[in-house]
Amino acid sequence: MSYADHLRAALAEPDWVTLQRLAEIATRLGMSLYLVGGPVRDCLLHRAVTDLDLTTEGDALILARTAAHELGGTWKKFNRFGTAKLILPGRARFAPIDLATTRTETYARPGALPDVVRGTITTDLIRRDFTINALAIRLDGAQPGALIDRHRGEHDLRAGALRVLHARSFQDDPTRLFRGVRFEQRFNFAFTADTLQLIAPALPVINQISGDRIRHELELIWGEAQPWQALARLDELGILQSIEADLHVDDWIAVHFQAQPTRDDRFACWAWLTCRLSETSLTRFSQRVNLARAEAIDLEQVRALRAAADVLGRLNSRSSIYRALAEYHDRSLRVALTVIDQPAARAALELSLDQLRDVRPTLNGMRLQELGVSRGPMIGRILAEVQAAVLDGIIATPQQEEEYARQIMAREGREA
Ligand code: ATP
Repeated sequence: MSYADHLRAALAEPDWVTLQRLAEIATRLGMSLYLVGGPVRDCLLHRAVTDLDLTTEGDALILARTAAHELGGTWKKFNRFGTAKLILPGRARFAPIDLATTRTETYARPGALPDVVRGTITTDLIRRDFTINALAIRLDGAQPGALIDRHRGEHDLRAGALRVLHARSFQDDPTRLFRGVRFEQRFNFAFTADTLQLIAPALPVINQISGDRIRHELELIWGEAQPWQALARLDELGILQSIEADLHVDDWIAVHFQAQPTRDDRFACWAWLTCRLSETSLTRFSQRVNLARAEAIDLEQVRALRAAADVLGRLNSRSSIYRALAEYHDRSLRVALTVIDQPAARAALELSLDQLRDVRPTLNGMRLQELGVSRGPMIGRILAEVQAAVLDGIIATPQQEEEYARQIMAREGREA
């Protein structure tokens, strides 16, 4: 089977037609056109190809504009490196096609973002992370269907080997450590011995990459079919500890990732990774990976709920459960349910979520003022007591609420 046949088999028919038409346009414009990176790897692995990453040695923006015009689509410039996103009819869910000009990359210092200049397909493949991702299939006129494989990527694909292209690769860009682990686990591949040896010396450089980049890499892991395996490998290689020294992956994490129906909930993934950290370590971790404030707050809530499970389990009235959990957000409570085993604590969380959160007395501050309470903290105190009584089933109707409030006012008056 030729590479073109492999490609045709891996693509949905409309995508195959689209690639042919793009190749015709590129040929007419005198530009080369390649399918490159992940989709070529997946095609050679006989996996379905849905992402279309294309590269040309010509001007990708001109190609994108011409193709959009001729094929009835739209395009937009994506970044300053001459990359375009092309949206064409016939693509599933209108997924954009990435169209880039081939580049050469250099790194001013370890962990920095690369400096980029225009290059050839050869330099464009050299800048890539692993040999299995440094593959291209030519699509335009001269030799359609030819595999460009300067780094023995096809050989490594067959061998299930993950190999970097040069010894400084991880130092240049430590996010490749995370990518490598992801591919290793996804394809059941293994780092070659040479590549494995380069990992430990690159660990200190992880300190130099931004929190956003680390967070992004971990989020990509959440999207894998078996994230816990990648996490365990990151742990084994010391990569996880280079982010936060106290992070460890054990059976508990594997079991929680495996058992949960909520695995597509990214927040839950963060929680399973971090909820057994101390408060200090969790704060440090959230800052390191630059989590959004709301997410960091809710992760701390899950951690605190789990740590306080025994206390929660001993609460014995609906109003005390309400009070204890009033400050916690719904998603914190929901995810806490997935990490707490004690039945009584779980029952309290469920009760709060299902029944207590929305209980509000009909009585309000305005009515209390009409009844003679002056504006101030007393109003809040009375309403809280009335609400507790409603929660505990002591009172039920609006009349009873008002009567109850009057009793509190009388009591407060006596005490004043
Ligand atoms: P996935 O299947 O997870 O999407 P992919 O290989 O398609 O994997 P992308 O993140 O879409 O990954 O990247 C596209 C291509 O760009 C990769 O195949 C690889 O050749 C190259 N690449 C991406 N990130 C890096 C990096 N950090 N260093 C070098 N090359 C990279």
